[in-house]
Amino acid sequence: MTNDLVNVIRCSNLDALFDCTPSVIGDGGLVRINTAGEQAALGKVVHALAGRYIEEGRFEVKSECNRRGFEDEEEVSGLMNYVVRSWDELRRSFPNPQVERVIKSNVIETPAGNFRIEGTADVLSAVGDTGAVFADWKTGYADDGYHNQMFGYAYCIWNVMGRPENAEILGIVAFLRHRYYRVVKYTAKTLAEWEYDLIHNVLSRVNVYRPGKHCTHCPIYHTCDARKAETSGTVQALMLPNNLPANDPYRKFVERVTSLMASVTPDNKNQPDMIELTSQLRFRVKLVEKAVDDARELLRKTVERVGPMPLDNGYELALREIVQRVLDPVKAITVLRKHLSDAEIFDCMKASLPSLLAKKAGKFTRGEKKAAREQLEKELEAAGAITVVRRKRLEEVEPGSEQSNEPE
Ligand code: SF4
Repeated sequence: MTNDLVNVIRCSNLDALFDCTPSVIGDGGLVRINTAGEQAALGKVVHALAGRYIEEGRFEVKSECNRRGFEDEEEVSGLMNYVVRSWDELRRSFPNPQVERVIKSNVIETPAGNFRIEGTADVLSAVGDTGAVFADWKTGYADDGYHNQMFGYAYCIWNVMGRPENAEILGIVAFLRHRYYRVVKYTAKTLAEWEYDLIHNVLSRVNVYRPGKHCTHCPIYHTCDARKAETSGTVQALMLPNNLPANDPYRKFVERVTSLMASVTPDNKNQPDMIELTSQLRFRVKLVEKAVDDARELLRKTVERVGPMPLDNGYELALREIVQRVLDPVKAITVLRKHLSDAEIFDCMKASLPSLLAKKAGKFTRGEKKAAREQLEKELEAAGAITVVRRKRLEEVEPGSEQSNEPE
C-alpha cells in the first residue's frame, strides 16, 4: 500500500472487524459502508435528550419526539428514566462532562493500508492530567457485543491525551432497557495490547474470512463466498452426508457433532469440544435458516414481478389472494348467543392479553398507562381469566442467569 489515504473505521464497527476483518475492510484496504451500527430513530431521540439532561439538567420528551417525528413517547420516557437514575449516580465521576464529543485516534499504519479509528463519546470528561471517563448509552435489546467498540473509544481518548504511560480511562456502558451499567478500566498497558492485536491479528488479515453468527449482519452477506461455502457445505452434509467424500470437513463436522450430542450428559456437557461444537452447530443452523428465508423471499419477489412460474411437475408457483371473512364480535354476539353457549363461542375466539392491555392503556394519558394496564390485569387475574401456559424454546442466555417466571 503506497498511497496516503487514511481509511476511517467507526468504533461501532470494531466488534464486526474483530469477528471477521473482511466484513469491514474490502479490496485495497477500503472500509466498507455499513449502516448497521448507526443509531435508529429511538436512539437519536434518547441520545439528544440524555445530552440535554446532562448539560441543562432537564429535558422534554414530547417536544423532542415531535421534532423528530417519533411516536412512542412512552418508550422514550422509560429509557430516559434510567438515563436520569444512572447519571445522577455517575455525575460525580465526570468533573467536566462534554456530550457527543467526537474522538479520533492517530493514523495506524499497516501493510493493508492506513487507518484511523473514530467515534462519538456520548459523555466524556477529563480527570486530572492522565485520566478520563466516558459513557455510552445503549438503547437496544442486546447487552453484549460491545467489547471492542468500548476499547475503540478508550483508545481514541488515549491518543487524544497524547498516549500517556500512566493513563487510566474508565468506560461506562449503560444498558437502558436492562437498567444496569458496566464499568471497565483501561490502562496504557491494556490499550497498547489491544492496539497490537488490532494491527497484527485483525488489520493484517484482510483476506481471512471467519464465518459465524455475525455473518447475518454483514454488508457483504449475499456475495461472500466463505459464507456461501459454509452454508452450502453444512446443508449438503446434513441432507446427503454420503454424497460427500469421507474427509469433507462439513461431513466430518456433522458426524462429529452427531456422535458427541449422542454421548453428552449433564456431567460432561461443559467440556470445551462440546461447547465449541454446540456453538458451531447453532451458528450454522442460523445461516441455513437465513438462506431458506432468503430463498423463499426470492421466489415470492420473482412471482410478484413476472407472474406464475411453471414447475417441472406440471403445476406452477403462483401468488393467490386469500380471502378471509372477518367477524365483527360486537355485531355477531347477539346472533351467536341464539345458537351457541358462551363457552362454545369464546372457545372459537382468540383474545390476546397484550393487545387487550394495550387497548386499555391507550385510553389513558402518559404516566397513567402503566397503572391502567396493571389494574385490568389484576381484575382479570382475580376473575380467574388468565391462565399461564408454559412452553420451552431455545434461547441464548447468560450462564447461571435466573429463569424469569414472568409471562411474556
Ligand atoms: S459474510 Fe461472514 S464470513 Fe463473509 S465477510 Fe461477512 S462476516 Fe465474514
